[in-house]
Amino acid sequence: MKKIILTFGISLFAAFAIHVASTNPEANLKKITNISNPDSLKEKSDLMESKINKTEQEWKNELTPEEYYVLREKGTERAYTGEFWNHFEDGVYKCSGCGEPLFSSETKFNSHCGWPSYFQPIDKSKIIYQEDRSYGMIRTEVMCARCGGHLGHVFDDGPKPTGLRYCINSVSLDFEKAAEKK
Ligand SMILES: [Zn+2]
Repeated sequence: MKKIILTFGISLFAAFAIHVASTNPEANLKKITNISNPDSLKEKSDLMESKINKTEQEWKNELTPEEYYVLREKGTERAYTGEFWNHFEDGVYKCSGCGEPLFSSETKFNSHCGWPSYFQPIDKSKIIYQEDRSYGMIRTEVMCARCGGHLGHVFDDGPKPTGLRYCINSVSLDFEKAAEKK
């Protein structure tokens, strides 16, 4: 009997460990996007207004196929093909899924990697960081905290002052030009 209990205990622990170790980004994203049941939150809209919870079908209807592929399916645009890898105007880069301002032109630098790169976000709390073990690499995925949209990855080979390189898909961003200085 003891043996049975022990075996049961071990398998329980193993199941738990597997659950904890699960790094399937899609599953984790689902967890993130499903944290709040939109219906139950409608009354609390003042508090939760900023979080966006949409069904995948709603996203599909709203986004372009490219945006859906990158933001919702964690795709990557091909290097040197996006709108912003070589774009250096003054302004703010917003999430193309929800419009949240995420990066400033003041932190953008030319990384020669083919994707727009920033050494820091406007506000770290607007970014979700998550380990990504896909393609045999260990990387840190970055997502928009407001809508859960995939943005890209952050690497530690960036310039001063942070030493970080936020390597972001142009497709995940919309640019808003700064007002002309008088
Ligand atoms: Zn967003």
